[in-house]
Amino acid sequence: MTDFSELKAILDERRVSSGESVRHLHSHDESFHAPSLPDVVVWPHTTEEASRLVRWAREKRVPVTAWGAGTSLEGNPIPVRGGMVMDFNEMNRIIAVRPEDFQADVQAGVIYKELNKRLARDGLFFPPDPGAAATIGGMIGNNASGIRSVRYGATKDYVMRLTVVLPDGEVIHAGNRARKSSSGYNLPALFTGSEGTLGIITEATLKLAGLPVNFMAVRATFPTVLNATTTVYQIMRAGLAPAAMEFLDANVVRVLNADRDLTLEENPTLLMEFSGYSRQGLAEEMAFVEEICQQNGALSIDRGIGAEERARLWEIRHQTYESIKRYHTGLSPLIMDVAVPLSRYSEMVDFSKNEVRDLTAYLFGHAGDGNIHVHVMDDPQDAKRWARVEEATRSIVMKALEFEGTCTGEHGIGIGKSRFMETEHGASLMLMKRLKALLDPENLFNPGKFFL
Ligand SMILES: Cc1cc2nc3c(=O)[nH]c(=O)nc-3n(C[C@H](O)[C@H](O)[C@H](O)COP(=O)(O)OP(=O)(O)OC[C@H]3O[C@@H](n4cnc5c(N)ncnc54)[C@H](O)[C@@H]3O)c2cc1C
Repeated sequence: MTDFSELKAILDERRVSSGESVRHLHSHDESFHAPSLPDVVVWPHTTEEASRLVRWAREKRVPVTAWGAGTSLEGNPIPVRGGMVMDFNEMNRIIAVRPEDFQADVQAGVIYKELNKRLARDGLFFPPDPGAAATIGGMIGNNASGIRSVRYGATKDYVMRLTVVLPDGEVIHAGNRARKSSSGYNLPALFTGSEGTLGIITEATLKLAGLPVNFMAVRATFPTVLNATTTVYQIMRAGLAPAAMEFLDANVVRVLNADRDLTLEENPTLLMEFSGYSRQGLAEEMAFVEEICQQNGALSIDRGIGAEERARLWEIRHQTYESIKRYHTGLSPLIMDVAVPLSRYSEMVDFSKNEVRDLTAYLFGHAGDGNIHVHVMDDPQDAKRWARVEEATRSIVMKALEFEGTCTGEHGIGIGKSRFMETEHGASLMLMKRLKALLDPENLFNPGKFFL
């Protein structure tokens, strides 16, 4: 029987808890996956403390699962084998902002929205934007992206240096501050998206981007999904560079109208954002975008220039998840997250829509990235219904893989996607397993994830 009170020799008493409510809070994320209680939750303040905790856990053969804000959608931080949850909430310092280098050094528990508030003072920002109140550690863990990834890329494109505690407690510093480097294996990339299965990140040096001066936003509705999704491809091909390009199906708009008392046209919708220097340049781009929308049969086009207009036109997108959840109180979400090459996006959306026609399902997604979310609301306790949800998930993922895409564009593998790893990665999965065994031979870091 492990004596978790020994941890109080490493951290002060306040930062070690086996209390019922604390364990419950760390037993689930935002997904439908079954909760699983950790035995103990700890809050390190320094890399050295995190390393000492890991060494203790290794000696006692206790699983360790890193925890950011618990906003994952695939069960990624659920401690399925119990043990220790290492919560980074109290390790949340912005260590340094280096405007002249376009870099920030942060601790893992910094919430990216807080970081962006601070960076705005220097006219900078950290672009990946998953929407939820995620931490930098959790974003690196999942290689999160968001509405602006079509222009700026995903978290992996912004990780320059990492401080990582390995499963044996050793601390390494991977990467450097140079804007380019050909030196050795890209270890920051290895840890990014590894969901805490290979190492625990305590600090990161992030690349930053300059805040755009001006914005232009467009909301266009179309008679069919195909009209909307074809527009995506044509806008990208025309050399326009959207900063965001989101698709919402008609029933998503219906829920938003009902939930938020709006009167938007209930048709397949594209939300677009462009950024630039001058209003005149943006107005010219806007005319071009409108022309492409009209060629694709747009039924309505609402647009505007400036930050306020952007906020007005985009507000609905930020409410989508909450509105759907509120509209179906009592049901749980399963959010599929496939991504495919842009040329297959229309087919993928069409196929997905057909697959879930008998379910309570909503389609929306980061269209400019070829990423579609099929958001199903149902009851995981109803075995027959849930089997149908799982069947639809499987067939949608298989279609995405047939299109040479991926089972997850941004939410990660967690618990729900491990069953697709072999099909997606083939022989490469063996190399992933070997890497895991090399770094974590006892399988103590976030066990029960990635591999069946
Ligand atoms: C409303 C809503 C909208 C969302 N939209 C998006 C979206 O558009 N794009 C997107 O990508 N995601 C989205 N997500 C999912 C989620 O917000 C992101 O994946 C986010 O990055 C998770 O961050 P977190 O801090 O909550 O991490 P957690 O959920 O706590 O953890 C995520 C994973 O990282 C690991 N981890 C956490 N901290 C560390 C660390 N310090 N070192 C190593 N591993 C660590 C955990 O063990 C876990 O495996 C959304 C979620 C919600 C609820």
